Amino acid sequence: MNYANIKYCDIANGVGVRTTLFVSGCRLHCPNCFNEEAWDFDAGEPFTDEVAEKIMSSLDTPYIDGLTILGGEPMEPENQVGLVGFLEAVRERFGDTKSIWLFSGHTWEQLAPGGAWNLGEVTDRLLDTLDVLVDGPFVQDKHDITLRFRGSSNQRLIDVPATLEAPRGEVVWWHDDPVFSTHAME
Ligand code: SF4
Repeated sequence: MNYANIKYCDIANGVGVRTTLFVSGCRLHCPNCFNEEAWDFDAGEPFTDEVAEKIMSSLDTPYIDGLTILGGEPMEPENQVGLVGFLEAVRERFGDTKSIWLFSGHTWEQLAPGGAWNLGEVTDRLLDTLDVLVDGPFVQDKHDITLRFRGSSNQRLIDVPATLEAPRGEVVWWHDDPVFSTHAME
């Protein structure tokens, strides 16, 4: 797996201050994608053990709230395989003290057990590491700059542990601080 970028003090892609890893490769090709240069699976640099340890070290800092995985498309099969062991290691080392968010152009229904984009064990293990999944493709017609942590209104911020425990087919939304419930300028 290659990665296109790492941001070490990111406040745009999840709550608080985060380390954000942008993996390379995406076949979805949403019109007006924000990160077209990361579509190529060979873009950027190899995700080596040294890079993984550098991210781990960045998380081991009191002011860092967690890790966010972006792309490219983290749920492309190659990237699921490349990420799952790393995310499990993050969870093992930090427990629930650091949150893990992941942005995917696929929907929860596609990724969940039994879904068309669920690859079986690797996807299930990966979903088990997540706190929040921001799901669905960017849709220009639904673009809304008042939304926090997502570009278009079809995308959902999903509480992954709660959704995995909910009755099949039920999706539990992640609840933002009420002060951020709207950015409407009125
Ligand atoms: S899934 Fe993400 S990276 Fe891929 S084309 Fe859509 S917006 Fe771009």
